[in-house]
Amino acid sequence: MYFWEKQLDKELLPSLQQDIFVDTLIIGGGLTGLTTLYYLRQEKSICLVEARQVGSGITLKTTGKLTYLQNTIYSDLEKNIDYTTAQNYLQSQRLALSLIKEIIEKENISCHLEKVHSYVFTNSLKEIKKLKAEKTFLEQNNVLVEENTFPLDIEYKESIGVEDTYVFHPIEFINHLKKINKNKIYEQTKIIKIKRKKGMYICKTDKGFIIKARKVILACHYPFFLFPFFLPLKSHIEKSYLMVSKVLKNPKLSCITVSNPGLSIRYYEDKTGIYEICVGGSQKTSDIQNEEQNFKDLEQQFSSKKRIVCEWSNQDLITNDYLPFIGQVKKNMYLATGYNTWGMTNSILAAYLMSKKIKEGKMPYEDLFSLYRCNYYQLKNSFKTIFFNLKAFLKSKKINKEWYPSTLVFSKDKKVAFYKDQEGNTHSVYTTCPHLGCSLLFNEKEKTWDCPCHSSRFTRDGKWMEGPSKKDITYKVK
Ligand SMILES: Cc1cc2nc3c(=O)[nH]c(=O)nc-3n(C[C@H](O)[C@H](O)[C@H](O)COP(=O)(O)OP(=O)(O)OC[C@H]3O[C@@H](n4cnc5c(N)ncnc54)[C@H](O)[C@@H]3O)c2cc1C
Repeated sequence: MYFWEKQLDKELLPSLQQDIFVDTLIIGGGLTGLTTLYYLRQEKSICLVEARQVGSGITLKTTGKLTYLQNTIYSDLEKNIDYTTAQNYLQSQRLALSLIKEIIEKENISCHLEKVHSYVFTNSLKEIKKLKAEKTFLEQNNVLVEENTFPLDIEYKESIGVEDTYVFHPIEFINHLKKINKNKIYEQTKIIKIKRKKGMYICKTDKGFIIKARKVILACHYPFFLFPFFLPLKSHIEKSYLMVSKVLKNPKLSCITVSNPGLSIRYYEDKTGIYEICVGGSQKTSDIQNEEQNFKDLEQQFSSKKRIVCEWSNQDLITNDYLPFIGQVKKNMYLATGYNTWGMTNSILAAYLMSKKIKEGKMPYEDLFSLYRCNYYQLKNSFKTIFFNLKAFLKSKKINKEWYPSTLVFSKDKKVAFYKDQEGNTHSVYTTCPHLGCSLLFNEKEKTWDCPCHSSRFTRDGKWMEGPSKKDITYKVK
């Protein structure tokens, strides 16, 4: 069970049951899709399709911090690209914060929005210089920065903090947006094919219906097509492990360490109590050895005295230059992804920018977030990305049975796996990801099959949960 899952809207909207024609189709009902629909709701004919349930993707498993203090992104961008790029990214993140506050106020959304201080801290002498550079950049751009005031009882050598940032409940926010645009949303409707014909996009759903659309917005986190935007060359996947425990005090802050593997914490308070949400052990999926061990490490890192409420893992796309992709893929097709684990601000920003592009033909920060931008930083990291993705693929092929529980049995050729649950039921699946052929790894804690290459995940019964795979991996025993 994910922490925010209890609040997922219980009312499922109907799936699409006929062919339709719309001017604009939004694919994906996460924070990006729902907010884009909100901004474009006045357009003459628009609909959103969601493969499972609105809010059930990466957004369900997030921490829910709304902050522009994102590790040491600005000094990194200044060093690796240039000062103006860093400045523009800072402006864009502050704009995103004002946009979400504006929506919450205007629509009177109750989503536990809380103003908190954000901190970045380090316990490594080597990283002090990085934090000082970040502070200098922020101050040059009129941000009030506190130094070494980090209030948690965690050892640190240097910290910076800002005060005008927030945390919220992402699912309560999404539920409200779903409610006000109910009649424009189809749930349990997955797009499995998109073709362009006579100036229209012909989008086929998993139930065989066709949506003809003049414009398509891909808000599905990891698009399933490769051309012309070859995402696996431009990004890799990073997975993190999260744990929620009940605590007595809300220090009203969010914090993160400078670099990976690190930790990130926020607090959430409602009438049932105060909760500490911790993220630890972030890893490139190509480096993951043993999921079970990663959860154990997380528990060791955080929970010596705490009562664990729930644990899970989540993954996000990391781009080669740590900037999101927001903009036009090809004529009348738009994409927003690659938020580098800062997707709460960037989803809202992407929605605002794409809606501007559609309504006015241009958008602010067009070059900054261009899908086809090319900078040295990106090129330099693209070799690493190719290496990470290749490593993930090759590693996945060497299934190490020692990592798996004895309840898991493979067929001789390892193409099928049988998992016996606690009630004695057997769940059989194909072990190869239908997307690009990586071997799937079993995540014992969450009972999911996870692709280490491009983030597809499947239930123990082989049903698609997230990622670019178009198909399930269910194996029917003959
Ligand atoms: C551990 C972790 C912690 C994080 N914490 C924070 C944080 O504190 N603050 C922050 O700013 N960011 C955070 N992020 C990042 C943030 O959670 C994500 O970037 C963001 O939620 C992505 O939203 P989305 O709408 O793009 O994707 P999603 O929420 O995944 O939405 C995409 C939707 O599209 C649907 N879909 C996919 N394919 C199809 C298809 N073919 N047809 C129809 N529907 C489809 C999916 O079912 C899904 O519901 C974190 C990320 C991680 C990994």
